[in-house]
Amino acid sequence: MTDIPKDHPRYESLITREKIVNGVNIGITSKQGLVAQGRGEAFDYLIGEKTIESAAIAERAAVAHILLARNPIISVNGNTAALVPDLMVALADVTGARLEVNLFHRSDARVHKITEHLRSQGADVVLGGKGDKRLDLSHDRAIVDEDGIFSADVVLVPLEDGDRCQKLVEMRKTVISIDLNPLSRTTLTATVSIIDNVTRALSNMVQFTKDMKNKSNDSLLDVIDAYDNDKVISDTLYSMQENLKNKAEERGIKWI
Ligand code: ATP
Ligand code: MG
Repeated sequence: MTDIPKDHPRYESLITREKIVNGVNIGITSKQGLVAQGRGEAFDYLIGEKTIESAAIAERAAVAHILLARNPIISVNGNTAALVPDLMVALADVTGARLEVNLFHRSDARVHKITEHLRSQGADVVLGGKGDKRLDLSHDRAIVDEDGIFSADVVLVPLEDGDRCQKLVEMRKTVISIDLNPLSRTTLTATVSIIDNVTRALSNMVQFTKDMKNKSNDSLLDVIDAYDNDKVISDTLYSMQENLKNKAEERGIKWI
């Protein structure tokens, strides 16, 4: 890995890039994953590289859904396997959800490598290797496990493709997305759209689960009932606009 000095102003972002590049080098992330990361970084810049209040609200609602679920699944792809394997394992641990590997550029070798990578971080159960069911989609993200995503009632999909997200919603599942683009098809179709960097979102969700785990089912249902996904999306767009406006004005650039 390239040596990145800790005092570099873009330290966090550069470390994240290194993790993705390393994921490509060890064969768990696809080259296309590098491009997806770039798109995410651009939106993270617009949002101010922090968890905004509306994202924290979505993260709490997501945790409530997962804690109340019968069969919650966390879908893992090549980017999240490289960036946040530890946090996915931690979230599965505290919530009781199970991990399932699901890849756009699928090969048995990559599924195996990601499974091993998650096990090396402490994962007990990793689904996705069976691939004994198909969703009605024309690409490899259609391949799922029958006792996993296929029969799940709640699915967490970080960095998901819009058409699979839509398909899962059509199957009447509660779909929780994590995607920094407030206007991607994924964000616009998910039940709960977390618009935050996956590294911050998962770390917050682990903490929120610890806070919410002992609440009654009724109070978790209250969190879900009070949640308004359209408001979260519009608050995010407003925050992005305000962030840009403040940055411009700090530099004496006129905001029209
Ligand atoms: P859609 O298919 O939903 O229209 P897309 O085609 O723009 O989305 P994909 O390539 O399918 O995007 O998936 C990548 C998505 O993940 C992008 O919207 C990108 O902003 C987001 N993303 C990339 N890196 C991160 C990250 N670290 N945290 C959160 N979101 C990210
Ligand atoms: Mg897409």
